[in-house]
Amino acid sequence: MTDRKDELAANLARVEERIAAACAAAGRAREEVTLVVVTKTYPADDVRALAELGVRHVAENRDQDAAPKAAACADLPLTWHFVGQLQTNKVRSVVGYADFVQSVDRSRLVTALSKEAVRAGREIGCLIQVALDAGEGGRGERGGVAPGGVAELAGLIARSEGLRLGGLMTVAPLTGEYAGREQAAFGRLMDLSTDLRRTHPTANMVSAGMSADLEQAVAAGATHVRVGSAVLGVRPRLG
Ligand SMILES: *Cc1c(COP(=O)(O)O)cnc(C)c1O
Repeated sequence: MTDRKDELAANLARVEERIAAACAAAGRAREEVTLVVVTKTYPADDVRALAELGVRHVAENRDQDAAPKAAACADLPLTWHFVGQLQTNKVRSVVGYADFVQSVDRSRLVTALSKEAVRAGREIGCLIQVALDAGEGGRGERGGVAPGGVAELAGLIARSEGLRLGGLMTVAPLTGEYAGREQAAFGRLMDLSTDLRRTHPTANMVSAGMSADLEQAVAAGATHVRVGSAVLGVRPRLG
């Protein structure tokens, strides 16, 4: 093994231990939580090494970086998640490799995703990104729709050809009432998920938690944690 692969294996083992411990503490089965490794800013070789180490879900947040990386890794048994703010002019490219878009936050994006999914003959899993720090009717600074906008967007996704409503995603807010209160924020996301599943029972994915707060997300009930730096190392500032 190369040094880098050793390093990734050690990091992955540490993250795996954290997830297992958080599941045990919450009385949840380990299988209830899917690890999604966020590989943004890291090269395709790292993605390949991670796949060899057993990782099956990876995430990217910028199409410019993700598209060539996904192409270079097309032979690997990976599920690709797109987790970044997405402009409609990038949708055609993203639909070419992403199995899930976790950052759906406006109707124009839903329309574009549906059109391109149909054109490509693909079905894209869509998670609604919730901005817990947005004012009602507003959008979050890092993307996301306010909690009051979830139901309408969910209905639109559910009616759209080529799309499947997967559930909800959030990033713990840095400002507002949930700043520094990750577990309360993730608990609020779980409440929104419970509401959503009353009308869309199969939309049961809850994507929350990153390197710094995956324990709080697992405790709250997250089904997917998105972990970048704890596996790959601290990124250079951009990204
Ligand atoms: C970068 C990123 C992550 C991973 O963050 P880390 O702190 O590196 O674990 C998770 N979710 C989103 C949306 C991201 O952009």
